[in-house]
Amino acid sequence: MNNQPLVYLDNAATSQKPETVIRAVEQFYRQQNANVHRGAYQLSEQATRAFETARTTVKDFINADSEQEIIWTRGTTEGINLIAQSYARPRLQPGDEILLTELEHHANIVPWQIVAEQTGAQIRVVPILENGDLNLQRFGELLNDNTRILSLTHISNALGTINPVAGLIRQAKEQGAIVVIDGAQAVSHLEIDVQRLGCDFYLFSGHKLFAPTGIGVLYGRKALLEAMPPWQAGGEMIRKVSFSGTEYNDLPFKFEAGTPNISGALGLAEAIRFLNSLDRKALARHERALMSKAIELCSAIPGFTRIGQPTAGASILSFQLTSHHQQDVGLMLDQQGIAVRTGHHCAMPLMETLGLPGTIRASFAFYNSIEDVERFAAALSVIAQGGSFSAADTVPSQSVF
Ligand code: PMP
Repeated sequence: MNNQPLVYLDNAATSQKPETVIRAVEQFYRQQNANVHRGAYQLSEQATRAFETARTTVKDFINADSEQEIIWTRGTTEGINLIAQSYARPRLQPGDEILLTELEHHANIVPWQIVAEQTGAQIRVVPILENGDLNLQRFGELLNDNTRILSLTHISNALGTINPVAGLIRQAKEQGAIVVIDGAQAVSHLEIDVQRLGCDFYLFSGHKLFAPTGIGVLYGRKALLEAMPPWQAGGEMIRKVSFSGTEYNDLPFKFEAGTPNISGALGLAEAIRFLNSLDRKALARHERALMSKAIELCSAIPGFTRIGQPTAGASILSFQLTSHHQQDVGLMLDQQGIAVRTGHHCAMPLMETLGLPGTIRASFAFYNSIEDVERFAAALSVIAQGGSFSAADTVPSQSVF
């Protein structure tokens, strides 16, 4: 990038893909390509088997109880919209409350605003503390008999806060609410067990988990999914259609209208196999080392201000340089081949709470190296001191990219 080796620190936006994932997608189109669930011929049967085996891989990955609880979606956004329209819309009434938090991504705000408008339900918002943790006392106060739905992120994409979801789920369930967890940021950093968490719905996107874009997962408890009407209609989601009426298909197909993203599902299963082949605890240790190094080096840079210092944090470092506009910092880092995200990170209400137009966000994945962090901090230091880059500023990267 700009004649520099790429240092990719925008992993919270999307991840890079392992060779095995790229090969799985390619192999599908080269050797297995056929539509699923339809053909009377062997190729289609093979594609169907691979597609359904991918579903089992996802089920095992998050420890769901059955494949019927795994619905393919386009991503987290589509999953939340599905729940809002299929679960919430027929059930919510005026006086009911939907509890969200100030940490939410727009994908976990706007679908609820739409359903609130459609039903007369109200949205309540749990505030954060100064360090970016959720205000748990206010959570306890806001949760009440009218709370029908708690929907919150497992990890904040803007500040890296890891929410203590297990306890929050327990409290909300005791109050009779159903709980939706936005796992978009969490699946790549934490080991997820939906049964141990006890949530009703859990959502994630393949592309943040080293898999292709356009594929995601909605986990839902079977009893809830069975009671929900289809969201989209068409082929695949039916058992019998006549002009006098239609019989819907069983789970999970009831929620999968139309030809699915077959290669995406295979790519996601391959990404999970890839992750499962690694020691995830060691990956987490490495990511913590990257974060510690980044914080240590950046803290010495004049004008560096970290935004949010959560008690439990993921591999996300949000900050500002007091001397520079955040967008300029992003552009100057890009000139050095360093990719970070700047702006509101699709969390405008959170930025409003923080009183900021946006932040600069460096987000790490296990494949980043300490050298990546050093190059990032060295470039940031030059920017902060108003210097210009020379050839000597460029440290050769040991990154895999
Ligand atoms: N929630 C969070 C916390 C996210 O970080 C993102 C992606 N930035 C989303 C939801 C939306 O995911 P997608 O765009 O893949 O649907």
